[in-house]
Amino acid sequence: MNKERCLLVVSGPSGAGKDTIVRLMRRRCPEIEMSVSATTRAPRKGEKDGVHYYFLTKECFEEKIERGEMLEYVHYCGYYYGTPRSEIDRRLEQGTRVILNIEVVGAARLKSLYPQATLVFIKPPSLEELGRRLRKRGTEPEQMIVQRLKRAAEELECEHEYDASIVNETAQSCANQILELWERRLCEN
Ligand code: 5GP
Repeated sequence: MNKERCLLVVSGPSGAGKDTIVRLMRRRCPEIEMSVSATTRAPRKGEKDGVHYYFLTKECFEEKIERGEMLEYVHYCGYYYGTPRSEIDRRLEQGTRVILNIEVVGAARLKSLYPQATLVFIKPPSLEELGRRLRKRGTEPEQMIVQRLKRAAEELECEHEYDASIVNETAQSCANQILELWERRLCEN
């Protein structure tokens, strides 16, 4: 089996429900690991360094870019986000299945590095519904929600670059569909 197939990228607008879907996938398949990204944004309530993200200063993030330690990175709504090489290299070598929850620019970069990776785009039922979900989540101030909604509209234009695009009507059904797709691709010659 081509080990790149162990990589699954999940993208989609902020608030589309990616975190919940990924949690459900890992509940069904606990052997699947998560790639922990680095970011310069502040931790939200309950987020732990090294578990949800590596929370870095801007200087530290830029040093890592300089040293070539980031597999991909992006500037998103005022902050850096990136995948440390160390999160992927070891798992690829071992053939461990790993999920990356990253936005569209990072996903395209991943696909160019690892063409056999599976890319799935998660869509909200509509932009109006996305706005409602983001406001209900209450993790960002209104000004940031407006920025994220603008970015969401741009991200939706990239859905054709993905192997599959799934509307998040219910998180459980999305999780099941993605696992089935990934397993089919793992078995392909
Ligand atoms: P949040 O601030 O809501 O945790 O994440 C904002 C966006 O950044 C989400 O769309 C998330 O998928 C994306 N993101 C998180 N980590 C990375 C990363 O390492 N690389 C890229 N390109 N995007 C990321």
